[in-house]
Amino acid sequence: MAQLSPDEIVFNKPKVELHVHLDGAFRVQTILDVAKRRGILLPADTVEEMTNRIIVHKPGSLTAFLGRFGEYMHVIAGDREAIRRVAYEFVEDKAREGVVYVEVRYSPHFLANTQVDPIPWNQTEGDLSPEEVVRLVNQGLREGEREFKTKARSILCCMRHMPSWSMDVVELCKKYRDDGVVAIDLAGDESLNCEAYPGHKNAYEEAERSGIHRTVHAGEVGPPSVVQEAVEVLKAERVGHGYRTLEDQSLYKRLLHQKMHFEMCPISSKFTGACSSDFTKHPIITFREDKANFSLNTDDPLIFNTSLHDDYRTAMQYMGFTEQEFQRLNICAAQSCFLPMEEKKELVQSLYKAYGMIQSTAF
Ligand code: ZN
Repeated sequence: MAQLSPDEIVFNKPKVELHVHLDGAFRVQTILDVAKRRGILLPADTVEEMTNRIIVHKPGSLTAFLGRFGEYMHVIAGDREAIRRVAYEFVEDKAREGVVYVEVRYSPHFLANTQVDPIPWNQTEGDLSPEEVVRLVNQGLREGEREFKTKARSILCCMRHMPSWSMDVVELCKKYRDDGVVAIDLAGDESLNCEAYPGHKNAYEEAERSGIHRTVHAGEVGPPSVVQEAVEVLKAERVGHGYRTLEDQSLYKRLLHQKMHFEMCPISSKFTGACSSDFTKHPIITFREDKANFSLNTDDPLIFNTSLHDDYRTAMQYMGFTEQEFQRLNICAAQSCFLPMEEKKELVQSLYKAYGMIQSTAF
């Protein structure tokens, strides 16, 4: 990550990030180091060249974006030391960005190597199970938190194309809920709805029954009906992205009224082709004007070659965000995080204090 000068940082205050993928946030140097150690040949051997191969250079489709992971996932997946390291380094990177609390998500199955499945980087059979991946990530996050003082929790992702994994995912959420795992997510191709794939619905029902928090990627490129399904069928407590909710005004108004939290990712939404690349016409502006409950997030900083500061700067330069709005949205994020109630209160209080505000409601 490039070092920024103080005047490039538009909101140099404690921040909360709720939507970022661990496997979209590795350091390029780490990918190169691990490839070397494991004897994996990569098409580039400098950070610059490798970055150039991984990153998305211009807006494209979500499918093209998902293809970027194929450049490097095979290097990290299945390697115990690498998985712990990327989790640890992730916390360091977030601490540098001024993030005081982060929820980082990943698919334990994508980083394991015991699965024979349609993922191109994951065809070889090995002995690193999804459960051990969760333990390694927890360990890395815990060590990072101790060292860098940024609190880090994780969200485990189900994948829309692999409904057979979802029950495993919820069981892992339950088993590791006291060891840093705070919620379940559903990611991937939104055209695969849950009616056709009941595995996800069953897993989310079990999550609700067991008191596991729930978020769902919905309305990013998919229509508002995917958001509706996330909220009504999967009982999502937060929506990942959700830009296209605006196309169904009655749904949007209902969710506004319920104070549903939307995890917004400005730069990501441009490069995945989810939103117009003209940021001055971005749906986030409407959410801001309506004082919706939302946060600003990076999503996949490795793939977009960005930091959280870039998303904040984009919001300020093109969407008219002010310092006050940055404070408000971070308080919204803290209030909508998946920490236990007492820890959440502490987090919210710490933000009020850092912003020099007297506690009042953020909405
Ligand atoms: Zn995402």
